[in-house]
Amino acid sequence: AHLERIEAVDTAVHAFLHVATDAALADAERIDRARAAGEPLGPLAGVPIAIKDVLVTKDMPSTAGSRILEGWMPPYDATPVAKVREAGMVPLGKTNMDEFAMGSSTEHSAYGPTYNPWDLERIPGGSGGGSAAAVAAFEAPLALGSDTGGSIRQPAHVTGTVGVKPTYGGVSRYGSIALASSLDQVGPVTRTVLDAALLHDVIGGHDPHDSTSIPDPWPSMADAVRNADVQGLKIGVIRELDGKGFQPGVLARFHDALALLERNGAEIVEVSTPHFEYAIAAYYLILPAEASSNLAKFDSVRFGLRVTPPGGGTVEEVMAATREAGFGPEVKRRIILGTYALSAGYYDAYYGSAQKVRTLVQRDFDQAFASVDVLASPTAPTTAFKLGEKLDDPLAMYLNDVATIPANLAGVPGISLPSGLADEDGLPVGIQFLAPARQDARLYGVGGALE
Ligand code: GLN
Repeated sequence: AHLERIEAVDTAVHAFLHVATDAALADAERIDRARAAGEPLGPLAGVPIAIKDVLVTKDMPSTAGSRILEGWMPPYDATPVAKVREAGMVPLGKTNMDEFAMGSSTEHSAYGPTYNPWDLERIPGGSGGGSAAAVAAFEAPLALGSDTGGSIRQPAHVTGTVGVKPTYGGVSRYGSIALASSLDQVGPVTRTVLDAALLHDVIGGHDPHDSTSIPDPWPSMADAVRNADVQGLKIGVIRELDGKGFQPGVLARFHDALALLERNGAEIVEVSTPHFEYAIAAYYLILPAEASSNLAKFDSVRFGLRVTPPGGGTVEEVMAATREAGFGPEVKRRIILGTYALSAGYYDAYYGSAQKVRTLVQRDFDQAFASVDVLASPTAPTTAFKLGEKLDDPLAMYLNDVATIPANLAGVPGISLPSGLADEDGLPVGIQFLAPARQDARLYGVGGALE
């Protein structure tokens, strides 16, 4: 049914870069046979799933939205992909994304944009717009995304879906093509909070292949949804993210959701996080710095594309020609920003200062969580904007991440879930909750109570 749905709507939505029709049908038949034979199967066995193209897959091309990896077939599965396969889930294919996950609109994909199923003239968010659009358009019931500065939560916000960025280290990054290694996290994109929890339980947990993976066991996120109760829960509304710069309809739905939680016994208080206003500036130094280093491996020798200048060329000339042809403008912009910020003489002024701001943002969280159980804000300042609207203005695109970036800087978990439609344009709006590191289950408790 999902393959038929993809066939019917994906020409218009363009959520997928690759559809694995034959493999998906073969997987589904194998699970059917196992079920008929009475083999023990997990709760998501047989459920189809779409996979963001940032995750490597051994039987499907993996491009991360870039020309430089066009046609590359990885030799192994990313750990979250291996885990969904072990759970008997059925990968449907790979979803579109901003090149190397840089962006908030999916317009930076080298393979053309994805369109928001709610309004095909609007962006589906980014960088994981393909995963969110696939779920919103009923092309897949569940999807995997990655969130470095909001790429799971902001697409969820603009497509009326649920997106979760787990605690840093909660889900393995092994096989997730790195954007910024200290910020990246893989997580679920779904239509309900319970679906997200079930998928989180499948992909989460320790992985010896990722040295930053947390070794301790995790509680069941699905149980947290089933036992959802906000009675006595203290929710801190982030003052800095509740007003200026936010669309009225986004704020209205945010306050409706808070009122509902209050009626169900939650206590709502206001908290201040004074350093969040510097989070974007710090992020857009730390991210390019790490990205410029991570992307150095695309050297025309080890992976994908190789462009040889006319008449041949030295190793350096082949490398330069390949990177010139293979990377899009946003990737080049960030490589230049990152190498500049890391260069001798500027390191302390830029990268060093950004790391200090990162610590201050982490302290804001510590201080806030000393007095509240979870924090709340709108997920992003506006509803889905029109394609092209911010494409020529990188700074305007970056400012869209104001509410999502702090969680990545601090490594804390976040969830975005639908809170209704904005009055002014009838488009979906999300509410975001953040919890202390390792308290992902708390987010599922709040989400379950709202659903
Ligand atoms: N929009 C942010 C950026 O462009 C988020 C990216 C992400 O989470 N992968 O960096």
